[in-house]
Amino acid sequence: MTAFANELIAEPIQFEQIERNLLQLTYRTPSPTDWVNGILRARVPDLRDQPDQRGPERMGKLNTLRQWHAMDKLLCQVCAEPAANVRTGRIPWLLTETVFQRTGYDSGHTDTPPTCPDCVDDALKQCPALRAGAALYTVATALTAGVLADLYRPARDLMPVLYGHNVFVPWHTGPAAHHRGGLATRQVVHLHGMKAVI
Ligand SMILES: [Zn+2]
Repeated sequence: MTAFANELIAEPIQFEQIERNLLQLTYRTPSPTDWVNGILRARVPDLRDQPDQRGPERMGKLNTLRQWHAMDKLLCQVCAEPAANVRTGRIPWLLTETVFQRTGYDSGHTDTPPTCPDCVDDALKQCPALRAGAALYTVATALTAGVLADLYRPARDLMPVLYGHNVFVPWHTGPAAHHRGGLATRQVVHLHGMKAVI
């Protein structure tokens, strides 16, 4: 899911007045599919299959469109195939402290996609951050919980000014202002029935 250079070009965003005293973040040429549950989603091109246009790989940068899709379908972050173990139905998940917030003794939030059983060793080899402090779990279910978003407020002339980066905004329960001034970049899922693999 590593991003290519030409996929990292951000589209300009702006505030528009949708009701009296109510502003909302939008694109210059918005489409209804730009919003998910009331929050604007970052537009990201997918140039993976266009080697002449995509530019070089940017290690450490994520194509957030592919991240989103991987979370929707629970696809492996390495090979992009379904990650669940076909025999047990459980989903292997490599987690580090920085990408995981525990919510219960066997549950928590993450924005990192799963890793299929065949790719766990490769993922650990390829990614120094994982090698340093990853724990391998299997999980019973992973349900969409919300997004990580950049939060903007309107300055003079309705120019958006960034005031929060990678803020977790839960679906439906987040403050409405976050939804209207948020630009969703990554999908967060809630993992349930986690078991550590020794
Ligand atoms: Zn895989």
